[in-house]
Amino acid sequence: MASFDGVIVGAGHNGLTLGAYMARAGLKVCVLEAAPRIGGGCSTEDATAPGFRCNLHSNFYIAFSSSPLMRDLELARYGFAYIEPPVQNGIAMRDGTALTIHKDVERTCVSLARFSRRDAEAFRYLNETYAVKMRPFFTSLLYNPPLAPDELKARLAGPEGREFLAHAPLDLFGAVDRHFEDQRIRTLFKLLMHVTTGENVPGTGLIFPMILASITHLALPAGGSASLSHALARVIEAGGGTIRTDAPVREIVVESNRAAGVRLADGTRIDAARFVASGIDAPGTLALAGAERFPAPVREKLDGWHWGDHSLVTLHLALNAPPDYAAAAFDPDLNRAFNVFFGFDDTEQVVRCFEQCKRGEFPDWPMGNGACNTLFDPTYAPQGKHAAFWWPFAPYALPGGPQEWDRRKDEVTARLLEVWREYAPNLTPDNVLATFLFTPIDIERGNAAMRRGAVRLGAYVPAQLGINRPHPLLSQNRTPVEGLYLCSSSCHGGGANGGPGYNAANAIAADLKLARPWTPIAPPEWSG
Ligand SMILES: Cc1cc2nc3c(=O)[nH]c(=O)nc-3n(C[C@H](O)[C@H](O)[C@H](O)COP(=O)(O)OP(=O)(O)OC[C@H]3O[C@@H](n4cnc5c(N)ncnc54)[C@H](O)[C@@H]3O)c2cc1C
Repeated sequence: MASFDGVIVGAGHNGLTLGAYMARAGLKVCVLEAAPRIGGGCSTEDATAPGFRCNLHSNFYIAFSSSPLMRDLELARYGFAYIEPPVQNGIAMRDGTALTIHKDVERTCVSLARFSRRDAEAFRYLNETYAVKMRPFFTSLLYNPPLAPDELKARLAGPEGREFLAHAPLDLFGAVDRHFEDQRIRTLFKLLMHVTTGENVPGTGLIFPMILASITHLALPAGGSASLSHALARVIEAGGGTIRTDAPVREIVVESNRAAGVRLADGTRIDAARFVASGIDAPGTLALAGAERFPAPVREKLDGWHWGDHSLVTLHLALNAPPDYAAAAFDPDLNRAFNVFFGFDDTEQVVRCFEQCKRGEFPDWPMGNGACNTLFDPTYAPQGKHAAFWWPFAPYALPGGPQEWDRRKDEVTARLLEVWREYAPNLTPDNVLATFLFTPIDIERGNAAMRRGAVRLGAYVPAQLGINRPHPLLSQNRTPVEGLYLCSSSCHGGGANGGPGYNAANAIAADLKLARPWTPIAPPEWSG
């Protein structure tokens, strides 16, 4: 029977992040992954054609430049790098106009002022307040356990803090309307809010300033999203740790209310002398450890875990030439933009799209974002070729059930390509070398933690955010089972930033009194 200091269930980037920190702290860890490859939602495959790299899940590493992982784990030395393109976001409108959001705020204001001078000034203020001044505060929020609302309030007593908190009672759309007047600009930001799996319900308004803080800090992982997972794996292996793929965990073994190890689907037992951590979804963790070990309020809440009212369906293309957007005639920077949005004309369409997703219908107006990664990193395709994708919002199940996605693949591919071509007329048959459609049921099939195609292992609604994620009794990465920790995106943090893995590492290091060869990010404090 194999034995380690720590066993981690799931080799998504959060499980690997925790493993890498623990390896750095001198523990022997074993990371067990059900799939044939590591990475979970940070993975890359040649899905369209050989040599064309497709990030099947995360593509936009949000605010990675503020992440402690690069420094603490020396990820550059282990092969991870990223690129922050100068034109961060682009929006193509059906009427031929376009908006671009740049790293350079002046250039963004020039673009927005073509629609509304007032909105351009509003953006300048919001950018200065949230993306520049309060940025360190947001970083410390992410890389620390969540605070109870009263405590958060107490730490944000100054005027900027109060202004930030004034967003809390709003819904996403109310938060956007509070700052912007132009319909196109409002529509863009409303769609951007949904990209994080935020839902337009009262109490989600705080997501707005947080998104504002990060939309000019989107990074492309060099060589593929999987390069982060592989770099983390190298850190683990350099510390003497082990990573096993094709090793689904069937049970977290608990003895005398202490996590003692895990049992794999084939019956193999692996012992953990000091901790077991779960890098999978919170409801899945309860099932592995035995739900009866958790208090009734936790069980009830996770029984009704909200996976989200929408998922994503991604069309990947192998191309001879990058998409050439018609609206680039209005703003040539659109063709240099990293995160490109299209498919919507107004807020009503956005509302309808999300209502249709909720009802399980394919949207009348498919809308969403995508990228052509080869514009920034040519290694994403064979020399001279291009790799692009677009991921419109979609329901988990079509009428008839989720398996309908399999039956309707050709039809959906044709429809999405038709819409994309409306915006980028050069996506003609002679340009498109190959296509690959990745549907919500494919997301779930490849990763049991992304149930119902749940992009972030659970929707962002007030009952599942901050101290409520996944439940107040579990929100500090600890559980009622001694030695059992949580480290996935079902916890506070989420997105491809390693936040939950990092916070779990600090919790375990504190409990086990480990010497930390890293300096933890200071707790959130803002006097402004
Ligand atoms: C289409 C799509 C696009 C996305 N785009 C972005 C983006 O651009 N930017 C961004 O920040 N985020 C994005 N996300 C979200 C991002 O992928 C997730 O937030 C991230 O992957 C979560 O990481 P994680 O390590 O917490 O969990 P996961 O990546 O889900 O890893 C969990 C791992 O556990 C494994 N596992 C499950 N059950 C078991 C078991 N019983 N035994 C062993 N292993 C098990 C799974 O196979 C998986 O490898 C996207 C997601 C999707 C689906």
